[in-house]
Amino acid sequence: MKYHIWTIGCQMNEADSGRVAAELDARGFVPTDQAADADVIVLNTCVVRQAAEDRAVGRLWSLKPLKEEHPGKVIALMGCLVGVKPNPALVERFPFVDVFLPPSDPGPLVAHLDGQDLTSEARGIEAEFTAARHALQDEDSPEAAAIGLIDLDGEPEADFAIPHAGPIPAPGDHRIQSTRHLSLHGEPPVTAHVPIVYGCSHACTYCIIPFRRGVERSRPLEEIVAEVRGLVEQGVREVTLLGQIVDRYGKDFPGGRPDLADLLAAVHAIDGLWRIRFLTSHPSYMSDRILDAVAALPKVCEQIEVPVQAGDDEVLANMRRGYTSAEYRRLIAHIRGKVPHAAIHTDIIVGFPGETAAQFQRTHDLLAELKLDKAHLAMYSPRPGTVSSRRMADDVPPAEKKRRLDALDALQAQVLAEINGRQLGETVEVLVEEKYKQRWRGRTRTNKLVFFADDRNWRGKLAHVRITWTGPWSMIGEVVAEA
Ligand code: SAM
Repeated sequence: MKYHIWTIGCQMNEADSGRVAAELDARGFVPTDQAADADVIVLNTCVVRQAAEDRAVGRLWSLKPLKEEHPGKVIALMGCLVGVKPNPALVERFPFVDVFLPPSDPGPLVAHLDGQDLTSEARGIEAEFTAARHALQDEDSPEAAAIGLIDLDGEPEADFAIPHAGPIPAPGDHRIQSTRHLSLHGEPPVTAHVPIVYGCSHACTYCIIPFRRGVERSRPLEEIVAEVRGLVEQGVREVTLLGQIVDRYGKDFPGGRPDLADLLAAVHAIDGLWRIRFLTSHPSYMSDRILDAVAALPKVCEQIEVPVQAGDDEVLANMRRGYTSAEYRRLIAHIRGKVPHAAIHTDIIVGFPGETAAQFQRTHDLLAELKLDKAHLAMYSPRPGTVSSRRMADDVPPAEKKRRLDALDALQAQVLAEINGRQLGETVEVLVEEKYKQRWRGRTRTNKLVFFADDRNWRGKLAHVRITWTGPWSMIGEVVAEA
């Protein structure tokens, strides 16, 4: 019996697919990269922007003839296209899909394959649980105002915890996430992603994620440590801990502990693991405890992802981000003081409703001034159900959005050429991931892509590489020694 997993979207989705793979591995299935050969086909989807949704839907329609020809194949649709709420319209639109999986939850597929279903009692409990969750997600509801979404006017956060639904590992069972489906044509991956906090309760006006991934809930520390241990046993050397707002890890636990700093220390203690990263942070929740952990724990890489989204205060307020551009500037200076040489990454949305050319220029100026190591750029895409799509006109024309995106892209090329140029002649530590067109490819601790040619097998090893060429997006070097 074979399975095929197709994944689009964020690193959280990649890790979720790994969890589905682990369940299928445990049931004796083997992975294949051909959907036509598979008995179980899983599409793990993303809807954060319209283009991603269109690709997922296109891929899904392409499976319809296969299912018609082979009705015994199981087609599973997973992720943000499905969401955490029941979606009868989706079921009606894609009748050839056998099972729908919310983000991060392989449970319905497991139940389908095992021929089981929830008992009516369990269904009752689930229905109650789901109703409570939906109340929280409805941002205008009194329930949400009382305990749900984070109040950006400085009120304390919600004091509630959602029971954890995932598997708690049995002693000795470290295989929560499988990498077998990723190693079909070679060895297992050197790096992997591990979700540590599911969902998001932050009500950014443009974002569909809280509606599709549910309210924020942190995974137990022991379970995360077990998952990382299992990945290390499979050959992984670097893990990236994931959350929509990763620095809020533990805030839903009693007393707010363990928090991200505690978790970093616990993961750091795992033998055989060499590097740890975490993303994405939110400017309002980056704390000194986290920065001190990054500075103190040698395996934690000097890379901080704090999305700013815009450089204009009115646009930031309309996005309901909860900080000003001046506060963001201060945060960047603070991070640089605490973690010297940290690579700082950001996200930007251009063409948010009402963004004028002058307001966009403030974003441009902010990036030019701060000289950050990476900017993930996106054109605003109205998403159904979000506050911005319901209450704000998508009034920046597509061509103007593209012009703004290109302008920031060109600026970043200049900034990165300058930043990377400073590394010329220096020796950096590279964790080698793969061979690519005769050259080995890996990343520095600050997540810069480095290529080098060498006859030896460097896969999964740390190399000291002297940089001989730099460009904005990558560097080339020569091996000096094994690290
Ligand atoms: N921690 C992050 C933060 O502070 O915003 C959250 C990560 S978010 C789920 C991923 C990125 O997708 C966002 O940073 C944003 O730039 C982009 N994004 C989300 N909704 C979008 C939309 N409607 N249009 C364009 N980009 C969007």
